[in-house]
Amino acid sequence: LSAEEQAVVERIEQENIDFLRLQFTDILGTVKNVSIPASQAEKAFQKGIYFDGSSIEGFVRIQESDMRLDPDPETFAVLPWRRKDDGGAARLICDVVDTETGEPFSGDPRHVLQRAIDRAAEMGFTLNAGPEPEFFIFAKDEGTATTQPHDTGGYFDLGPKDLASDMRREMIYALEEMNFEVESSHHEVADGQHEISFKYADALATADNIATFRSVVRAVAEMHDVHATFMPKPIARINGSGMHTHLSLFTEDGVNAFYDSDDEFNLSETAYHFLAGILEHAPAITAIANPTVNSYKRLVPGYEAPVYVAWSDVNRSALVRKPAARTPASSRIELRSPDPTANPYLALAVMLQAGLDGIDRGLEAPDPVRENIYEFDEDKREEYGIETLPGSLGEAIDALEADDVVLDALGEHVAGKFTEAKRKEFAEYKTAVSAWETDRYLEKF
Ligand code: GLN
Ligand code: MG
Ligand code: MG
Ligand code: MG
Repeated sequence: LSAEEQAVVERIEQENIDFLRLQFTDILGTVKNVSIPASQAEKAFQKGIYFDGSSIEGFVRIQESDMRLDPDPETFAVLPWRRKDDGGAARLICDVVDTETGEPFSGDPRHVLQRAIDRAAEMGFTLNAGPEPEFFIFAKDEGTATTQPHDTGGYFDLGPKDLASDMRREMIYALEEMNFEVESSHHEVADGQHEISFKYADALATADNIATFRSVVRAVAEMHDVHATFMPKPIARINGSGMHTHLSLFTEDGVNAFYDSDDEFNLSETAYHFLAGILEHAPAITAIANPTVNSYKRLVPGYEAPVYVAWSDVNRSALVRKPAARTPASSRIELRSPDPTANPYLALAVMLQAGLDGIDRGLEAPDPVRENIYEFDEDKREEYGIETLPGSLGEAIDALEADDVVLDALGEHVAGKFTEAKRKEFAEYKTAVSAWETDRYLEKF
């Protein structure tokens, strides 16, 4: 065993852990887990744990279904709500290995991100990412989730209107016990809406954390008999839930490669090229960062969510914002399109690869747009050269299939399975008849 693996085995002993949950995610970002008795930890580290991959969404065909999980000792975390005297549970996030070739499985989202990280490293960079996931807390009615907000607080409100502040605190304690560095939390704009943002960390740790985050938030809400949801737009005509993602590249010496004190916005050449890469590939990134039918109900004008492909240092209607930075280390860009239904591994992988492509090709960023783009008409957008994000999941998949850089970022296996699953989802949606339609037409015609 490596020193790190040995340390995990010792902690399992000290913390009185009885069960280990070995986790990974499928292509759609759903966390899967297999539970093993803690006595199997050494064996899991030495030989991995074998499982049948054929029943996992987007994994493999029946005839080639043997997969192996290799636990990453750095991801060891005790599950806070299982910490009882009678033996607790801990989780380890795993890499998925194809047993036939012994290579990382190309359908493992964590591996897709690892490939992007490796490419950045070859270019001398590491990505730091800091997400701001938002979510709603809704009341339950006899055990079933409703869309009745659990409080009537607004942006940055404090109790007693913000009924959830105690609950948020519990969520944060649980997250911290699981090695998160939570940066801040607040009540968001809409009734019942909240945000918990993480301190930036390297891309892999951030993706692991986002995957964990959703289950922690939902579990704590569950204990309070309310329902937390990351659905991007649960209520029409009210702000939806995004997951803004702050991005910067650091050099091997830990220097922020996005910072330049001489620039008007304190952004370096590298940062502008990266930004230009993000803007160029924005339509295809949207398919991954906004992967549900409902995601596109959020990306409409008027609710602080982006619709147009532009950047700004002041305006929140733009796709990318340059937040004010007080220190060189905090110089970064904020991508505002992602929502919390995204598979975090794939989302960070495509953002990173798009930005690296911008650096590779020396792409030039356009000027920032300092006006409210929601108010531009088509002529004005054309004059400024501002494109529009895909308007539906179907359009986003078209954009993805037309973008070789983003397809390559995903790799053939993931790109194929992802587009197949999403085409199907969109086709189902198109044939469904919504309440809006029956309200509008049933009695009129
Ligand atoms: N909820 C908004 C969105 O959909 C963001 C609001 C904010 O954080 N200022 O992205
Ligand atoms: Mg925020
Ligand atoms: Mg917010
Ligand atoms: Mg933000």
